[in-house]
Amino acid sequence: MSQDSERLDSDSTVFLPVIALPLHFETFFPKTKAVLDQRLEDWTPLTIQRKMGVLAAKAAINTNNKVLLLHQKTELEENAEPNPDDLHTVGIVANIIQDLDLGNGTLRIAVETSARAIVAHCTQVDGYLRASVKIVSELIGIGDASKQLINEAHTVFRSYATTHSKDILPDMVRHTREIEEPGILADNIARFIIEIPPHRRQEILSELNPIKRLKLIIAFLKADLDLLDLEDEIQSEVSDSVKKTHREFYLQEQLKVIQRKLGRENEVDEIDDLREQVENAGMTEEAEKKALKELDRLAQIPPMSAESGVIRNYVDWLLAVPWKERTENTIELDQAEKILDEDHYGLEKPKTNVLEYLAVLKLVEQVKGPILCLVGPPGVGKTSLGKSIARATGRKFVRMSLGGVRDEAEIRGHRRTYIGAIPGRIIQGLRDVQTKNPLFLLDEIDKLSSDWRGDPASALLEVLDPEQNETFRDHYLDVEFDLSDIMFVTTANTRITIPPALEDRMEVIELPGYTDFEKHKIATFHPNGLIPKQLNTHGLKEENIEFADSAIFDIVHKYTREAGVRSLERSITSVCRKIAKQIVTDDTPDLQVKVTSLNLSDYLGPPKWTRTKAQEHDEIGVSTGMVWTQVGGDIVSVEATLMPGEGKLDMTGQLQEVMRESVQTAVAYLRSRADDFKIAKNTFEKNDIHIHIPEGAVPKDGPSAGITVATAILSAITGKKVRKDVAMTGEITLRGHVLPIGGLKEKSLAAYRNGIVDIIIPDENKKDLADVPNEIRENIRWHQVNDMTQVLEIALIKDTDGVADTEHDGITPAADEASLQNSDVIGQTGN
Ligand code: ADP
Repeated sequence: MSQDSERLDSDSTVFLPVIALPLHFETFFPKTKAVLDQRLEDWTPLTIQRKMGVLAAKAAINTNNKVLLLHQKTELEENAEPNPDDLHTVGIVANIIQDLDLGNGTLRIAVETSARAIVAHCTQVDGYLRASVKIVSELIGIGDASKQLINEAHTVFRSYATTHSKDILPDMVRHTREIEEPGILADNIARFIIEIPPHRRQEILSELNPIKRLKLIIAFLKADLDLLDLEDEIQSEVSDSVKKTHREFYLQEQLKVIQRKLGRENEVDEIDDLREQVENAGMTEEAEKKALKELDRLAQIPPMSAESGVIRNYVDWLLAVPWKERTENTIELDQAEKILDEDHYGLEKPKTNVLEYLAVLKLVEQVKGPILCLVGPPGVGKTSLGKSIARATGRKFVRMSLGGVRDEAEIRGHRRTYIGAIPGRIIQGLRDVQTKNPLFLLDEIDKLSSDWRGDPASALLEVLDPEQNETFRDHYLDVEFDLSDIMFVTTANTRITIPPALEDRMEVIELPGYTDFEKHKIATFHPNGLIPKQLNTHGLKEENIEFADSAIFDIVHKYTREAGVRSLERSITSVCRKIAKQIVTDDTPDLQVKVTSLNLSDYLGPPKWTRTKAQEHDEIGVSTGMVWTQVGGDIVSVEATLMPGEGKLDMTGQLQEVMRESVQTAVAYLRSRADDFKIAKNTFEKNDIHIHIPEGAVPKDGPSAGITVATAILSAITGKKVRKDVAMTGEITLRGHVLPIGGLKEKSLAAYRNGIVDIIIPDENKKDLADVPNEIRENIRWHQVNDMTQVLEIALIKDTDGVADTEHDGITPAADEASLQNSDVIGQTGN
């Protein structure tokens, strides 16, 4: 062991054993005694495994401890001994200051580097390499140029040290700061640089010009710093995007903490809870995004503010609609038929139509296509048929009444900017049933009206149109909602007032009304007749009440006057309620009551109608017409009276435009045929005619009263009585032709109900007789006419003594003059 004290002369040539250092090996740089800092370790351990290296070290130890450390140019195979050509020619002279034989041929030495040396020649001697080298001495002394360079080197190295603070100790910086020699400074910095790549290291080592060497070092450090910057930049960009998501999350969490501190803990939990619900609601992407956004807003505003309520309400609505819930839809026609039959008596044609409709749905497997529209007077079972269809197709049932809906917003909702805005009724209905594929019954579609608040019909059109309703947008929710899974069924009392655009898309099924016989059956059939149903609802046993047939018919005749069965059902309910009360009050659960026509008034009070509507007596100037209203058919009396005047025509009883015109037509016809009817000259000029149709509060319209009016006027003029048991319907032309009318079935049901025996109808309505229930067809005498004279022949009693000619065979011959001969009485009024 020897301390190096001998200074090698510069530029002198010496022979030194060579230790070859593998490419990846520790980096050695010269160290100058002048700047040796005791606080820094100044020796480096080196483990030598290759034989030539060990021999070289031993040779050195045996002489002056000096070796030359030369780096290999390339990596050699493991344990391969290097040739002189494999080594660089500039290396470091080092003193071996310690050595330790580790056995198995490995030697550990500690070296202290001194100067740079250039190999002049290198050969193998005694099993190791030996080189003749020239020691390079550093130029001492600095110029102005290098001063600047040195400052820069110091600065750059400091920056480098800061960014690599883990590896570069403050002492190392302090150590280099004291060096003012460019070459020595370069070497000392190089010693401390970490991860210097082999080619750079050799480049710096081989650079003998100190200024150039320092420049190399500066360039290297700068490049390293730039790289670091770039990395930082990339890193920060990458982390920016990651951070943004994290940031939001982080801020949310912070916000929660702050809110907790503000005592809004419950609210925070609640918003969290809502957020979770939104995520699980199966909303569309659009809706979910919107809901979450609103929740974010909610978290930021004070809980008691008005806006908070609005947002909360909105999110609650979004959560309340069924985004994914649906029922399993099945269409088994046998099953459907069974259900329809179970729920409803009769209605054969409507049921067949419904089944046909369902069959088509089954084939196309989609609800797209025309929408069912059930048309008929109140109480004929439209709603309950709708419910049955729902049951038959496995859908839930929801009903929305459109009666009087004028505002588009009722269907589509109000925009959220309105105070108290809520969604439209479609969305409300879906919220109520909680499935997205219910049967949606739109009741009274014919009662829609429109005004300045918008046109609800066009909003409805969008709801019903399969092309558009997939993307239905309620104004309030303001996100798309798919309505295409809904089965829409509509109802109306009359086709006439259904908005045409809507009617276009609908398949109309008519439910005209029931005969007395059918009503009786509807009341009694099992298990869903009105009576069994009401017993059930009132908690009564079958044995408790027995309705005699006579009682049921009496209810139909004397307590109700309707096309449907609503009042009938109400009356039955009244009876049931009274008996239920009796059972409870007397505590007689086994009470048995038989309701008959004799005791019916005990339960329902005195009958409302003791006679039929038809006139009791044949009268002058009063004829019976058949009308059709939205609540079914009805019969009306048409009164005509004549009084001295100046040819005015008065009409009362709320006659609407078309009916007024038809009255004028009737008068014009009679005037033009005055001679034929033996009407005295100037009758029309010297008299006023007054036409009144009773029940003045009900507006009446349509041309079908034409022949009835003409009959009443002629009766008033001629003083011939009109038969009370004849009812008629038909439009009249100026020439006295009788034109067809609509609603024959409903009209004849009403006429029959009111005790009419003969009915006069236009010839062209013959085909509609097929729709009239058998019971009525067979019990009425039908007169089909083409001309007004035929009407008069049947309706007017020929002889003023009141003998009616009732022996008609249907079609009557044209009125002959003879029959009108005695009719030239004028000025008579028929009161
Ligand atoms: P609408 O909707 O036509 O006004 P509803 O469907 O409300 O009439 O019917 C009134 C009541 O009469 C309901 O209880 C209904 O079940 C019953 N109903 C009507 N038609 C029939 C029928 N053909 N068979 C059995 N019940 C009926």
